[in-house]
Amino acid sequence: MKILVVNAGSSSLKSQLIETDGKVSQMKCLAEKVGTPECTMSISFAPDFKKMRYKMEGASVTQCLKRLLDVMVDDPESPISGLGQIDAIGNRIVAGGEHFSKTTIIDEEARKLLDDCELLAPLHNPPADACIDMMHELMPNTPQAGVFDTAFHTTMPPKAYLYPLPMRYYEEYRIRRYGAHGTSHRYAAQQAANLMGRPLRDLGLITCHLGNGGSITAVNHGKSIDTTMGFTPLEGLMMGTRSGSIDPAIITYIMRREGKTFDDMDEILNRESGILGVSGISSDMRDVLDAAEGGNERAQLAIDMYVYRIQKAIGSFYAAMTKTDAVVMTAGIGENSAKLRERIFAGLAHMGMILDKERNDVTGQIGVNRIISIDDSPIKICVVTTDEEMRIARETANLVSQMA
Ligand code: ADP
Repeated sequence: MKILVVNAGSSSLKSQLIETDGKVSQMKCLAEKVGTPECTMSISFAPDFKKMRYKMEGASVTQCLKRLLDVMVDDPESPISGLGQIDAIGNRIVAGGEHFSKTTIIDEEARKLLDDCELLAPLHNPPADACIDMMHELMPNTPQAGVFDTAFHTTMPPKAYLYPLPMRYYEEYRIRRYGAHGTSHRYAAQQAANLMGRPLRDLGLITCHLGNGGSITAVNHGKSIDTTMGFTPLEGLMMGTRSGSIDPAIITYIMRREGKTFDDMDEILNRESGILGVSGISSDMRDVLDAAEGGNERAQLAIDMYVYRIQKAIGSFYAAMTKTDAVVMTAGIGENSAKLRERIFAGLAHMGMILDKERNDVTGQIGVNRIISIDDSPIKICVVTTDEEMRIARETANLVSQMA
């Protein structure tokens, strides 16, 4: 099946055309700085994926998607010559609230329920919904699936998902922990079980998705029982530009001291904090690691804080589960940074997570799923490469083929 994966973010659009029978990508597209004068889009086709770049000054996410479709229909290198050749569309949706516990075909009823979820991810859900609506207009007979970041976490028990606020906030507004990165945590857990040659249902796993955003999940017998992200993706770990968990009283204190508005605080906590805010250099871990190596103390402090908060989260989930068989590292930092993995696990050996330095080395190992702990480490440490678009395509294809 040919699946068009649409991953619309707050300021980006990632898309791929994936042939799920051969599990190969035939087109890749990335639009960045969407909605700003600097918006650019790159599109490339198999087999050589030579990038064509487009200036998309001020374009919205749907305008970028429409341009992509036009290029796909017109370009002689494109694997399709008409939109009818796309079998289904797989949409990544950040927040599915309590409505969506699995990948779902977006029919009229599901589309209405999606409106309910917009407030839960005000930066991410509206662009995804707008893409769904545009694709429905252009291709009304092509099935669209929603693949939800929150779906995997709907198995959390109330003691994990409720906040200690007056209950009416949950009852009236559904304020609770929803988590995120669910497709990644589910995939990482399954791949770790494969690496260990044991059924997922027998295992206790702690999965760490460490990218620009970051979250850690306790996966017990294949089910998410707790996760660090909360009502929104702002809670939990320190991230590229997000603060993660802080004392909520800091927010009102800063507002009073500096006369900040609610929107100002959203901006500060989501876009100016985290690794960027502490290092003052960049939100990109590679830049910060380089600066720390060059002796920059703020960069070093940002890394120390980042590592410490991950160690504490792993420790708390170790306590949340009845047993832990493995810790799984995935996403940009988790997969690629041997140095940070070494730092993180240096502090966790006393809990039985013992890294093997040679296996941890990335030379020649990028993209290889593997176990990187010593043979008799009581708790294994695994590295798993995440491929979000491929997973969305496969979940969409499975669902659509069940419909037929
Ligand atoms: P996103 O959440 O945008 O999908 P990714 O999973 O691609 O993010 O992760 C991006 C992060 O991974 C960036 O901070 C980047 O610096 C970091 N990263 C990628 N490769 C490395 C590496 N070799 N060493 C350290 N950090 C890396």
